[in-house]
Amino acid sequence: IINDNGSSTSSQTSSTNGDYEMITNPMEQLIGQPIQIVKVTDERKFELDVDALGSILLRDSIRDTPVVVVSIAGDFRKGKSFMLNHFLGYLQANSTNHNNNSNNNNGQNDGSSSLSPSNDDWLADPTAPLKGFSWRGGCQRDTTGILMWSEPFLVRTSDDKEVAVILMDTQGAFDSEYTVKDSATVFALSTMTSSIQVFNIMHNLQEDNLQVLEIFLEYGRLALESVHEKPFQKLVFLIRDWSYPYEHPYGFDGGHRLLEKKLELKETMPEQLQRVRRKIRECFKEIGCFLMPHPGARVATAQNFDGRLGDYDQDFAHHLRQFVPNLLAPSRIIPKEIGGRPITGRQLLEYFKVYINVFAGDTMPEPKTMLEATAEANNLNAVAVVKDMYTNEMEAICGGNQPYINPTTLEQRHADLLVKCMDEFDTIPKMGGAEYSVSYRERLEEELGQAFEHFAIQNKSKNVFGLFGTPLILLMACFI
Ligand code: GDP
Ligand code: MG
Repeated sequence: IINDNGSSTSSQTSSTNGDYEMITNPMEQLIGQPIQIVKVTDERKFELDVDALGSILLRDSIRDTPVVVVSIAGDFRKGKSFMLNHFLGYLQANSTNHNNNSNNNNGQNDGSSSLSPSNDDWLADPTAPLKGFSWRGGCQRDTTGILMWSEPFLVRTSDDKEVAVILMDTQGAFDSEYTVKDSATVFALSTMTSSIQVFNIMHNLQEDNLQVLEIFLEYGRLALESVHEKPFQKLVFLIRDWSYPYEHPYGFDGGHRLLEKKLELKETMPEQLQRVRRKIRECFKEIGCFLMPHPGARVATAQNFDGRLGDYDQDFAHHLRQFVPNLLAPSRIIPKEIGGRPITGRQLLEYFKVYINVFAGDTMPEPKTMLEATAEANNLNAVAVVKDMYTNEMEAICGGNQPYINPTTLEQRHADLLVKCMDEFDTIPKMGGAEYSVSYRERLEEELGQAFEHFAIQNKSKNVFGLFGTPLILLMACFI
């Protein structure tokens, strides 16, 4: 499915299910399934399932569309997947495709769903079991890694741009020395690839929660120097089982106040704590915090609880209705940006590929290595974007459907376009600076030269008069 450039060469990816079977629940019109895209192998290596990720990100409606990547990360068995399934419910209930045509895999439609104006019914049925990403799994643990919902949701944002919302679940386990690094890697990978990171925390925001962020903050500082854009978009601390509503009320307002207090700089703090606090604001465009009440005994402990709304404490359900739309409404979602530019599905796949390599070693990578990998992907993506631009414009000038044109004219058009393309490459912000881009720039120029030769030969072959070096009319004259 994927060639070296990571681009799709097969129409297979544009059919919804590709290699994966669709799970459709007629009651809830639940379409799609979780797909493990990153896992830790038995040798404790991080492995990216490129085919699986490609089957999601390279389908026609997503590959060239800006993506909004929503991720939830944090400690094991703290209700992350449970919450994510409500995100899924919200997105699916608001999708016209799913409501009107649950069996929408009709060849025309590639399975992505378009979001209609807000629909409040997403959390209405008190007896519907909660489906989607696997949650609560008892004592047995799911594989460490990252999962993605197989169906992205197409949404028109308030500034009338189409984006694809992608949901990502993460699984870590902080129970042995071994797994701490794995969990940190999962957290790092998901933060690097998402535009909305929900950091799920039980009870209260603690100092060690902030420390987890430290590695990105250094990466962020380097990235910030490089492109002068905040490297990450949105971080939301979601505090579960908040039990001090008399101190800070539930919801975003209380969360905001808690965050202000926790991020407050005090002279007496050790320098490291001050540094984390200072940098957190520099690295994320937006930081929020939501205080969630306890869901009630049935959710927290009942063995036969199937996730139904009827079993939640009312207060919890009420705040769920506030939290989810606040995060996912079309006016609230934020596309993933790297180096200050929105990332498409195809580009996201490329970033996953470089980041998985960065995290392949036994220790956490240096922020500088992460930055270099990002810079490499930035440059490769810039090369790809400009090559597409060149090819599209040349197709319009002398592509297969165009008539023959004078080779000298063609050469001139190429020369003009080349200047324009190289300018475009230079203006795309890239990490690592101009020096780092030199080799990619040369490579681009060479590839455009080769592309031109191809176009020139194609053009020549259209010249029937030039076929034998003799105008055809003269040849014909010989036979008369
Ligand atoms: P994950 O490992 O973080 O993905 O956790 P799961 O979503 O699988 O949920 C683990 C358990 O926590 C399940 O039994 C849920 O019913 C329960 N749960 C879900 N939300 C909450 C919550 O807000 N508070 C508490 N105490 N438990 C929750
Ligand atoms: Mg989970």
